Amino acid sequence: MRCQICTQPARWWRRRCDDCRRLVAVFLAHRGADMATMMELFIASQAPQQKIEKFLLADLDGSGAVRDQIAADMTNDLLCAFGQTGRQTPREVERIRQRGGWMTLDRRPPE
Ligand SMILES: [Zn+2]
Repeated sequence: MRCQICTQPARWWRRRCDDCRRLVAVFLAHRGADMATMMELFIASQAPQQKIEKFLLADLDGSGAVRDQIAADMTNDLLCAFGQTGRQTPREVERIRQRGGWMTLDRRPPE
């Protein structure tokens, strides 16, 4: 059986490999943290960078890629701080990012 997230072999009774399971646990435990904090936590989980990159692009529950969910959480926190009640969904973040208007904090800077 292969990991749903990174497609590397996982134990046969598991849908996710140990690294990705740790990444999911970190993500769920720190929902609402900003992207920089999340990246530090993901790296601290000892998962290889390649898996972290796949994890950020993974859509765990059908509501959008992990990195878009983190960005949506950050945006919602900001809107909340300014007294706005509108919710930004991961799908909207994806749309904004595709237009090039979104920060790419989760990407490595160009070499
Ligand atoms: Zn995996």
